[in-house]
Amino acid sequence: MSTILSEVLQANETYAESFTKGDLALPPARGFAILTCMDARLDPAKYAGLSEGDAHVIRNAGGRASDDAIRSLVISYKLLGTAEWFVIHHTDCGMEFFTDDVIRGLLASSLETAQLGEGGFTDVGEGPGSAEAAYIDWLTISDQAQAVVDDVARIRNHPLVPSRIPVYGYVYDVSTGRLVEIPAATEAGAAT
Ligand SMILES: [Zn+2]
Repeated sequence: MSTILSEVLQANETYAESFTKGDLALPPARGFAILTCMDARLDPAKYAGLSEGDAHVIRNAGGRASDDAIRSLVISYKLLGTAEWFVIHHTDCGMEFFTDDVIRGLLASSLETAQLGEGGFTDVGEGPGSAEAAYIDWLTISDQAQAVVDDVARIRNHPLVPSRIPVYGYVYDVSTGRLVEIPAATEAGAAT
């Protein structure tokens, strides 16, 4: 068994031994949802004070308002009653370090993990790669604050999202653990 697999299963065994949350309701008790990045340095349960059953947390690369993130948010309110949403990106996000062209080139070259150096990512693997990457919008980020505004605005303007739900826009600072509001985003996401 891989070390990672055994570590995870052991940790789960320990968690389950003292588990006391078996009777939680399905809808999130505190009625809100967070869309945030998958970055390993971010722990939404800790930075936003969540316990099991409190809130929906939707994560992807960048915390972007992709079609699939919106699918989850719509289910979150329509079926499970959330009434306030957060879009939380963060400083030093990996999505700022490449473009669509870069990742398409890397994946066309090989499927090995690329190396990150001074000049950005370079591919060091054996081919073949795949041209399939050309068909994916990777939703990379060139300006983090603007990306939060864009994602909040996309959610706000989506025809399946009711105007009563406020959408707040923040950037989590990975060096301080602090949430920093992006006022233009929160303004764009205001409920009406
Ligand atoms: Zn990130």
